Amino acid sequence: MARTAAADSASPLTFHRLRKRIHVACFLAFLALPFFNVVRFDIPRERFYFFGYELWIQEFGSIFFALMFLMFLIAAASMFYGRVYCSYLCPQMIFSEASIAIEERLRKIVNKRFPSFAPPRRRLLARALFYMVLAAASVFLAFVFIAYFIEPRDLFARLLSFDIVTAGGIAGAATTVVTFLDFALVRQRFCTTVCPYGYLQGMLADKSTLLVQYRDGAGAGRACIECKKCVRVCHMDIDIRDGPFQIECVHCGECIDACDEVLARLNKPGLIHYAWGERGALLGEGGKPWYYRLGLRDAKRVVVMFVLLFYASGLFVALSMRRAVRVEISPDRAQLFWRAENGDIVNRFRVKLANRGSRDANVVLSLDGLDGARLKLDPNPLPLDRGESLTREFEVAVAPGGLPPGVNHFRFVARSQPENATDQFKMTFIMEGSKP
Ligand code: SF4
Ligand code: SF4
Repeated sequence: MARTAAADSASPLTFHRLRKRIHVACFLAFLALPFFNVVRFDIPRERFYFFGYELWIQEFGSIFFALMFLMFLIAAASMFYGRVYCSYLCPQMIFSEASIAIEERLRKIVNKRFPSFAPPRRRLLARALFYMVLAAASVFLAFVFIAYFIEPRDLFARLLSFDIVTAGGIAGAATTVVTFLDFALVRQRFCTTVCPYGYLQGMLADKSTLLVQYRDGAGAGRACIECKKCVRVCHMDIDIRDGPFQIECVHCGECIDACDEVLARLNKPGLIHYAWGERGALLGEGGKPWYYRLGLRDAKRVVVMFVLLFYASGLFVALSMRRAVRVEISPDRAQLFWRAENGDIVNRFRVKLANRGSRDANVVLSLDGLDGARLKLDPNPLPLDRGESLTREFEVAVAPGGLPPGVNHFRFVARSQPENATDQFKMTFIMEGSKP
């Protein structure tokens, strides 16, 4: 079932080697995404991190477009390329295969190092070693997984203090146990029993979706030599010759490599291929435009691409319109106006500020179109640390007779630095003599 390293290094770029390279890249991405805030949903701080942007939970538009984009990306990938996500990109598959490889490797090491031990004792030792390695790996993987939801340094401090009291600590401990059991007992069975994405992909696939298929002649024309290597290499324990639509098949291509390798020795082409649907062309077959060969094969797929483009554009617009400092100003009309001790007419307002950027900021408020009025806000500029939110109440005062009685229209101008962004807010100042 397992391939040898020598065979791997001697062979050209097989699907197996391609998968393993992609698995390494995915593993590195899995580690890097939360630590560099590429994709992370920080639950305690109510922040969604997306490619370096720190989106606040109130920024519904950006989060909506980001989630819809990711969702349609996965749906489009399933429709175009079937279950290649499962076999090439899914962490469950990557770690399941890694755990099988580690177990196998430990078994060989124990057999080699302890030839004098009885077989049951060697098996026991190999199993104990495997569980120890898996326990350490489970702590590490659970840590990375929970780091998608809790700030990694905060999580690390919880881990060092063996925190199993707070929600984060309990989640970390529970994920460690589940990870251990998963890669000790369940592995790829998860794909065919529990995983909802596997079922979803079955629904999204159609007659032009990429699949793995056995194509051979009939009767005496059959080229299959019944070596069954395609069955032996299959981690999902199926025979691809029984049909291309088996729910267990994750389209990994291992059986393609196996059949190619066996029949190459007889100078014959392999019988298993990636194909665009049951009766479609084989992957890589020429004679069609490039977009057709990439999977853009019918109107339905063009529509899906446009939907994907729509959400990508919406996300781009939402992010490009986003200001690091959010300013909201509203009047406090519990009392329309009042007269101060010095006789000034006073109106009260409220400003809410939120610094969603990566640097500390200052916000200066000023009045536009309210000659003779004084803004009573201290301090002004208002300092705002990175990630800080604050609410301040302040007043605008006008000397008696300084403005016409009744409603006077003006604007607040809020200028934030270092972003150098300006927001304007239409507002009214109520002078004595107005009709309430
Ligand atoms: S590896 Fe190829 S030749 Fe061997 S049993 Fe499978 S399909 Fe037949
Ligand atoms: S049948 Fe082939 S493509 Fe499908 S899971 Fe097994 S090895 Fe992978």
